[in-house]
Amino acid sequence: MKQNLTIPIGQHKLPNLPYSYNALEPIISSFALQIHHLKHHKSYVDGLNKAEIELVEARKTNDFSLIKHWTRELAFNGSGHILHSIYWTIMAPAGRGGNPGLHTLNQINNSFGSFSSFQKQFSQTAIDVEASGWAALVWNPAWQRLEILAVEKHQNLTQWGSIPILVLDSWEHAYYVDYQNRRNEYVNSWWRIVNWYDVERRLLFAAKGQLPLV
Ligand code: MN
Repeated sequence: MKQNLTIPIGQHKLPNLPYSYNALEPIISSFALQIHHLKHHKSYVDGLNKAEIELVEARKTNDFSLIKHWTRELAFNGSGHILHSIYWTIMAPAGRGGNPGLHTLNQINNSFGSFSSFQKQFSQTAIDVEASGWAALVWNPAWQRLEILAVEKHQNLTQWGSIPILVLDSWEHAYYVDYQNRRNEYVNSWWRIVNWYDVERRLLFAAKGQLPLV
């Protein structure tokens, strides 16, 4: 039986974290994680639902005068919802995230030569991305290999069709409470809480064209 993956219009939900708020300490504090999840991520979910419902209304009334605004809201909040959902699941308490899986390691070696080259390039991407940015390891289904992309404004796709696998939130709200302006410390410490089991799971889904949100 085919699983129904459709999320009805205007019914996106804030996913629960797969661990408690203090589970990622000392890398990410309970306080920072609560604000990030309950305020920032929640506002993307609310904004996405609102935009979708406003667009239903626009179609119903045949009034597309605010189409630019709602389409931007759709992109901005939809991207925020997807990226944050992935970010939560690809982290785990320090020491519980395992090591890169067989498929992950093979694909990383094929695409970047070695794990350490991948890690250096990914970290530097996260450290250098401007202001409201992300570093993202993506599966590009067009050329069937991995790539590292910097997401400078998360509503803008940087390679169409790419499926995000491992994402690192480099917006100030993700680290400022714990690290202030020391983004490099946040990025370097963050590797200790990567959930490699989830990375492997996501990569296997991506090969089938799927992007699970939980
Ligand atoms: Mn964020």
